[in-house]
Amino acid sequence: VISNHSDNALGSIALIDADAVHRALSMADCIELMDQTMRTVSQDGATLPLRTVMTIPGTQNRLGIMPGHLAEPAGLGVKIVGLYPKNPAQGRSSHLGVVILFDVDTSVPLALLDAGAITALRTAAASAVATRALARTDAGDLAILGAGEQAAYHLRAMALVRPLRRVRIWNRSRTHAERLRAQLGNSLPCPIEIADDVESAVAGADLICATTAATSPVLKGDWIAPGTHINLVGASVQTAAEITPNAVARSRYFVDYRPSALAQAGELHNAIQAGLIGPDHIRAEIGEVLLGLSAGRTASEEITIYKSLGIAAQDIAAAKWIYDRRLHDRQRHDPDNPKGE
Ligand code: NDP
Repeated sequence: VISNHSDNALGSIALIDADAVHRALSMADCIELMDQTMRTVSQDGATLPLRTVMTIPGTQNRLGIMPGHLAEPAGLGVKIVGLYPKNPAQGRSSHLGVVILFDVDTSVPLALLDAGAITALRTAAASAVATRALARTDAGDLAILGAGEQAAYHLRAMALVRPLRRVRIWNRSRTHAERLRAQLGNSLPCPIEIADDVESAVAGADLICATTAATSPVLKGDWIAPGTHINLVGASVQTAAEITPNAVARSRYFVDYRPSALAQAGELHNAIQAGLIGPDHIRAEIGEVLLGLSAGRTASEEITIYKSLGIAAQDIAAAKWIYDRRLHDRQRHDPDNPKGE
């Protein structure tokens, strides 16, 4: 190698696996971190090119690439994650990949972190932030649609922001819902019921988390009770939607990030195409609500929707937190090693 430069960019890169991610960042801390992050995003504090998704030829598998820069907490990075829907049947996450964290000033790669763990945590934490801001304070009758990784994390996150009094899970495969219930044991404040269909899962619920990989709607607008808050997490491309257009039209609709919602939110696209709403149906980004720049819920009978597409700012904020925490812990244990190497 012929170079004037002495640095080996990968020499001190940290490898942070899923266990280390979870040790460093609890759900409760991640909720506060996402609260701060979404405020930064809505104050023009983030640069977030639209996510690129490419399909692996001849399969349903995709690769997603999400770069971004965040001002506070300061971070530069990119998430590269496979979206492999058949992985769970083989005991793997459907979202495997890495978050690469760079030093903002030099672009030296600082860390490679487990993207599956970060995605699971930050997505549910961001929904919790939205729920705290938009759901009625007495909301506690929770319906979860889906029983995969996001369903599991959303159950934990919702329990941290609202006093749950009833929990129902509906899933395409009932056995997977039963498996999730068994995994959760007695960790929730109330027993988990398994619903036979979506309509009975959401009947009377005031909090719904849609976390399925469905491409066509599973949740109909007519089934949603007045006053409900819905976190729409599953459909992440414009050709997929978990709820019908009239559900969108009936709601006060909030998003994580306007540019990606306008480009990639399938149920918004469908409702616009059906002539029920215009793009101005997006009331605000959740960060604008948190900052007090826009009203959230204005009446107890309103249906509010938080559309989560997921943004790199969330991954980078989590990665930076975990990296800094690890550095801090190492320095504490070894004061002679200030770089934590
Ligand atoms: P998993 O693979 O762990 O779980 C997928 C879930 O969706 C399972 O419950 C599965 O049911 C269900 N499902 C699959 N296909 C259908 C269908 N056609 N109709 C109804 N249910 C279906 O995935 P995750 O939990 O990690 O992710 C769930 C969804 O959330 C995905 O669409 C994913 O892309 C999206 N996501 C969004 C993020 C965001 O930031 N907004 C971040 C991460 C994920 P079964 O048990 O029967 O297979």
